[in-house]
Amino acid sequence: MNVNVVCPQCLKVNRLPKKETYAKANCGECKASLLDAKPVIGNASIMAKYVANSDLPVVVDFWAPWCGPCLQMAPHFEKAATAFALKAQFMKINSDDEQTLGAKYNISGIPCVILFKEGKEVDRFTGARDSTQIEAWVRKYI
Ligand SMILES: [Zn+2]
Repeated sequence: MNVNVVCPQCLKVNRLPKKETYAKANCGECKASLLDAKPVIGNASIMAKYVANSDLPVVVDFWAPWCGPCLQMAPHFEKAATAFALKAQFMKINSDDEQTLGAKYNISGIPCVILFKEGKEVDRFTGARDSTQIEAWVRKYI
């Protein structure tokens, strides 16, 4: 069984054998490590590419630089991401820069984290959570 993963560096869709753990996995195009689980800085087109192509859950944090709880949650979101290398793909969207996305997904408060799977939203939460809570929430969809 294979799994499609979007390269966080060059956005090429890579097809990998599905495994429990990976010692090494590099992008076929740019050779970047696909195990680098740092959240991707997204925008509307990057997010669309991930949601449409990734077989992994795509976890998107809608935030803004003026939002205290967003800044408070940021290191927790990064920490949670590292627990899901090639299990889920994490992304951050600045909702000030991407207001059309905010409207499209009906985001009324931030931080708002939406989890997409197979091209569709499956769950979301609003308000800051810590890394343990974020991990537990994502794990339900792995
Ligand atoms: Zn690449």
